[in-house]
Amino acid sequence: MVFTNENTIAKYKGREEEFHQEFEKALERVKLGEEYPLIIGEEEIKTSRTFEVRSPIDTSILIGRFQIADENTIDKAFKAAKEAFKSWRLTSWKERVEIAKRAAELIRRRKFELAATITLENGKNRYEAIAEVDETIDYFEYYAYILQINRGFAHEMDSRMYKNEHSYSVMKPYGSWAVIAPFNFPLAITTTMALGAVITGNTAVIKPSSDTPLSAYNLVKIMLEAGFPPGVVNYVTGSGKDIVDFMLARSDGMAFTGSKDVGHSLAKRFIERDPRPIVMELGGKNPVIVTDKADLNKAVEGVYRGAFGFGGQKCSATSRVYVFESIHDKFIEKLVNKVKETKIGDPRKRDVFLGPVINRGAVEKYKRYIDEAVKGVGNVVIGGKVVEENKGYYVEPTVVTGLPYDHWLWRTELFVPILLVGKVKTLEEALMRANDVEYGLTAGIFSEDPKEVEYFFNNIEAGVVYANRTVGATTGAMPGVQPFGGWKHSGWTGKNAGGPYYLLSFLREQAQTYYD
Ligand code: GLU
Repeated sequence: MVFTNENTIAKYKGREEEFHQEFEKALERVKLGEEYPLIIGEEEIKTSRTFEVRSPIDTSILIGRFQIADENTIDKAFKAAKEAFKSWRLTSWKERVEIAKRAAELIRRRKFELAATITLENGKNRYEAIAEVDETIDYFEYYAYILQINRGFAHEMDSRMYKNEHSYSVMKPYGSWAVIAPFNFPLAITTTMALGAVITGNTAVIKPSSDTPLSAYNLVKIMLEAGFPPGVVNYVTGSGKDIVDFMLARSDGMAFTGSKDVGHSLAKRFIERDPRPIVMELGGKNPVIVTDKADLNKAVEGVYRGAFGFGGQKCSATSRVYVFESIHDKFIEKLVNKVKETKIGDPRKRDVFLGPVINRGAVEKYKRYIDEAVKGVGNVVIGGKVVEENKGYYVEPTVVTGLPYDHWLWRTELFVPILLVGKVKTLEEALMRANDVEYGLTAGIFSEDPKEVEYFFNNIEAGVVYANRTVGATTGAMPGVQPFGGWKHSGWTGKNAGGPYYLLSFLREQAQTYYD
């Protein structure tokens, strides 16, 4: 069996009109304004309190009403997950593989509707939304494939000492995991963590971001329909502050994707009580180096898409560029021209590249960072303004140059469309600066000299590195192609999502020996 990535855009090549119409019909089909229950075991539960989710595209669009879980409902969810674990952990890996493949098929059939939901929920443009659903399908198929080629991670061991001795290494699940997911990839990242847990025989209680709970609801419904038994995947909603501690008090493992500060504080509390496994993908402050041997057109294209795709709201977003002095001004001129062409607005429209940021808090952060950059004597060479902050949350893509390297903005993850560009004299200096942060998620270089690229790969401290990538200098990893995860404070296990080792993070080894 060979793993093949799903690529909808490529499939529709030459039939672009059809692609657009499919997406637009799907936008019409998404049901808005409904009330959604918690999903716990076999039950769909409504609590006494709900919260409203509104679209960042236009706050008059009510996405839906979602339940506010409390300690009792969280308790119930983990009881259901623990009960389901008793039998799920004993199912054969082949059965789990079959269910995962069925889920991939169901998602493929509903691809456009799931993508349209993402666009409505978090404001991603249609290309990025479709790519996220493709990534989700890939996770289901790739993890099924990995389990299959590793035969469920069970190995017969050597038994030379005694003739009648038989030994095996068997990887076993831990129990019930708390899966805490972010808003930026509400379907794909929720999938990688939840599926990582359950395809390996664990069970999961999933808490989506309160900005984007509908995609995770769709996911859980599909997983149940595909045949994951009730209780294997459970769905709870509510604000992280209110319910995550209840979840962590009851879970056997924690999977989290989000900011470094939140991740570290959760992890600290989580392991203080018991040594329990943690899977985390945290923030980034992803650098790109542009040397004097770069093709500047490639560099501008890659940096633009890496920094401003989905408004910089990716852990992988390009956020710092170190350009060789001799080409700095030319690079900035070309980049500014490119940024000028950006179509900002309602991402339901065909030609819009940059939709809204996720919420009012993101607009406030954006304003503060721009003020700080200006106070710190940076030059805002383009952008820097809020376009709309009441009916929706729209800000301009922004490039800042000349900010002194000791400014804190060079070291802080921003998660809004602000890019810092600085000058360097040598590749050594660029690498020194690139590595001089606590993060180590993604990184890129633009250079046509293979020696420079090799030097960069050998010395950069990051989990995902790219050379001359125009589709996004540091973004857009695909399962089974670019395993995605961070070093240093950007990660935890050192085993990247969508890679051959990820599933091992959800398993522990048992050596089994018996005698005839
Ligand atoms: N996997 C995504 C990418 O490579 C980013 C995921 C994230 O933002 O956490 O762009």
